[in-house]
Amino acid sequence: MNIEFLANFVYIISSILFAFGLKFLGSPVSARKGNILSASGMLLAVLATLASGHIINFQWILIGIIIGAGLGALVAFKAAMTQMPEMIALLHGCGALASVFVDWTAYAVHGAGDLTNTITLYLSIVIGGLTFTGSGIAWGKLSERLPGKPVLFAGQRLVNTGLIASILILGALFILNPSQYNVFLVILVLSLFFGIFLVIPIGGADMPVVISVLNSYSGVVACTTGFVIHNTLLIVVGSIVGANGIILSIIMCKAMNRSITNVLFGSFGAVVKKQGSGEKKEAKAISVEDAFLILENAKSVVIIPGYGLAVAQAQHAVRELGEFLEKNGCDVKYAIHPVAGRMPGHMNVLLAEANISYDQLMEMDAINPLMENTDVTIIIGANDVVNPAARHDKSSPIYGMPIINADKAKTVFVLKRSMATGFAGIENELFYYENTRMIFGDAKQTVQALVAEFKSSHL
Ligand code: NDP
Repeated sequence: MNIEFLANFVYIISSILFAFGLKFLGSPVSARKGNILSASGMLLAVLATLASGHIINFQWILIGIIIGAGLGALVAFKAAMTQMPEMIALLHGCGALASVFVDWTAYAVHGAGDLTNTITLYLSIVIGGLTFTGSGIAWGKLSERLPGKPVLFAGQRLVNTGLIASILILGALFILNPSQYNVFLVILVLSLFFGIFLVIPIGGADMPVVISVLNSYSGVVACTTGFVIHNTLLIVVGSIVGANGIILSIIMCKAMNRSITNVLFGSFGAVVKKQGSGEKKEAKAISVEDAFLILENAKSVVIIPGYGLAVAQAQHAVRELGEFLEKNGCDVKYAIHPVAGRMPGHMNVLLAEANISYDQLMEMDAINPLMENTDVTIIIGANDVVNPAARHDKSSPIYGMPIINADKAKTVFVLKRSMATGFAGIENELFYYENTRMIFGDAKQTVQALVAEFKSSHL
């Protein structure tokens, strides 16, 4: 049995581990197992590649492994849960950059190869280049180092059309004559610029879709790189990630009631600052003690978590509150909006961490019909996902996005620190509704204070 055959056999085992890993990642209960399986698959794949006989000089690889593993471990230990979404954007970008380097090296050392190879090489550097810079911009927006709202300027469409046309024309020239190194470099630079211009006009509530589209691109570029260097495992894994990202993008688009083309090219979320109607609206605040009295008499409560829950790390306190409410004979449910937080499944992960039973978590479509019969909704650090303007205000940037109908409950409590806007940067009319009461403060402290009220009343 030769070593190459053995390496390919190990690649098949790795692919199986990746496929099962992905399956297990589908549920918070088995996600940890999924991660371990996928990581083992990756370790096997790396070892098989190192042993495959294609590598003669190990010292650079060793230096790369030490630097990469060191940085990875450092970042993983240091990153707070709230920084996960931006980390994911960064990792997509790093993956794409690595693929571009591999393509570039393959081209510089072996040339472009036959027609099919040249086409995949071209696709690889274009998608890799734009994914790298696009992910960089997404990272900047999610980490608030760049403005989260769409950046628009005169002639933007013209610039984008010019970039696309140049990349296509130069691509044709390159495919016809692959020995033109300069053309290769110009295509790469234009693709890098295209990534920036593709993502800067997208913002506000559309970012979840962008993240999953970039996730998909990072898979596609791994796949095309697999073709360039004839590595079966990269092709398989890249296809899995690419397909997975596309499915996620479609789910996200459905959740936002938008089409992918509209998200990518429609500059939705261009935050138009709405002029107030002139009359000064006032939100009504309520104290924790008064809120407790209402909760004590509630028969049904729906808790709606949002990004602020992650910031405050209030999940454990929320579970405690839920348990007290239940002990008091109240029916408690948790309503999960698909884009609440800053990454898909963000709220599920947080609530699972606090051991909140999965039976109590309800998707938006399942909970909305129950809202009218709900006594109290407690909105914890959510904002955009409960903004009723999405239902009726055609001028709102989030018009058409399905929301959790928190406002339909008899009483609405909103736990947040101030009247500040959420990710989409738009005012929330719910805060001024007759049945809404604001409980200002850090979500964790507020929930703990409510728990303390329950404790003292039942002692
Ligand atoms: P929002 O971003 O709309 O609102 C979060 C709210 O949390 C803010 O208004 C803030 O108000 C409050 N908050 C922050 N810190 C605290 C704290 N310590 N205690 C209490 N409240 C706090 O969040 P949603 O979850 O409602 O909506 C998610 C948004 O993010 C959507 O627009 C979505 O499109 C977008 N997005 C989602 C992604 C995903 O995949 N899920 C990815 C990227 C973007 P205040 O400052 O007053 O406290």
